[in-house]
Amino acid sequence: MLRRLQKSDFEAYLVGGGVRDLLLGKSPKDFDIATNARPNQIRKLFKNCRLIGKRFRLAHLYFKDELIETATFRADHSNAQEHEGKQRNGMLVRDNVYGDLEEDVWRRDFTVNALYYDVFANMIVDYCNGVTDIENKCLNCIGDPNIRFQEDPVRILRAVRLSNKLDLKIAENIKQGIVEHKNLLNNIAAARLFEEMQKLTKEGYAHSAFQQLRHYDLLMYLCPSLNSYIEEHPDSNCQKLVEGALINTDSRIKIGKSITPAFLYAVFLWYPLQAKIQHYIEKDQLSPAMASQEAAGDVIREQVNHTAIPKRFTRRIRDMWHLQYPLTRLNPKRIYRTFQHPAFRASYDFLLLRNEAGEDLQEYADWWTQFQKVKPKAQKSMIAEIQKP
Ligand code: ATP
Ligand code: MG
Repeated sequence: MLRRLQKSDFEAYLVGGGVRDLLLGKSPKDFDIATNARPNQIRKLFKNCRLIGKRFRLAHLYFKDELIETATFRADHSNAQEHEGKQRNGMLVRDNVYGDLEEDVWRRDFTVNALYYDVFANMIVDYCNGVTDIENKCLNCIGDPNIRFQEDPVRILRAVRLSNKLDLKIAENIKQGIVEHKNLLNNIAAARLFEEMQKLTKEGYAHSAFQQLRHYDLLMYLCPSLNSYIEEHPDSNCQKLVEGALINTDSRIKIGKSITPAFLYAVFLWYPLQAKIQHYIEKDQLSPAMASQEAAGDVIREQVNHTAIPKRFTRRIRDMWHLQYPLTRLNPKRIYRTFQHPAFRASYDFLLLRNEAGEDLQEYADWWTQFQKVKPKAQKSMIAEIQKP
């Protein structure tokens, strides 16, 4: 498809993470294309093309099981002001001014992300020393981090994520920029932060990403109730539980197993949930069942203000929490219902993690492990066994 664009006398390059990862010797997740062809010109060339986006149109090209995002060169961010591209506080609101390749370079975030690879000429266009930074394993901003982070504070999270995933040293001015501007993350839409949180946790480096978020004091923007809980209860098992789940997530990804955001959020919010339940029981004299209901609602509502977790996941989070009760009570009448619940497997994994993190649940963990191993007849006798006094 690069050839088709080039044959039609357009410039077309591979850009972004794909080129960067190739040069770092990692296998790229995907490739993006940058071109001087306008979106409607791209559409004319490709049948499998869909234009997306209102203000800035991107072309999505579909091939078998792959989607390639093709973006028309855009102009330099600092010129954007002339085009009313910026709000007064320096935040970029529009990024929709077409430009040429050289201009496109300067709107990108980090030097290692601004490499343009011409596949046929086998040549890399590098205006800002991205190749040298890759060789030295350094993460540098394009331009002044103070300005770039004000334009788009999500770049702060991207800096932490990319340096962590790719083992790049973060430049000193980026570190200072993070301290200076991290508060601007409060202004970012919760849907976008959910996406960033996803990227931070699903690339196989979730555990170290979490440590980096803590190090740069950024967790409070993504999951404030967890952050406060850890700060206020440094000796609790909370951090152990969270880190256990993240290590687990990373190893699942390495062996190609599926992961769901519901699981991690259920873990992240478990201790804040317990604190809230306690509060409702002690201060408001609610019954434990009512307190759990109310607290679950509160904790999730507060979290979705920060990262907009889709409904299907919040439902699963509540199910996982709810199932912790029958999993640790072993009521013979509820065993099958619990076992057949769609959230059983995740809830069982959660129970194991709670046990490993120091809650005294070995007896239940063993019982359910055994229950899943044996044939239905033996399951029946296991249930009969509990009924005995
Ligand atoms: P990943 O490997 O995680 O996909 P990526 O760098 O490719 O990393 P994308 O979100 O796919 O990340 O973005 C593609 C490219 O678009 C980036 O390499 C960068 O050049 C540019 N870009 C993405 N987000 C921003 C941003 N917030 N500000 C400036 N440039 C950005
Ligand atoms: Mg990418």
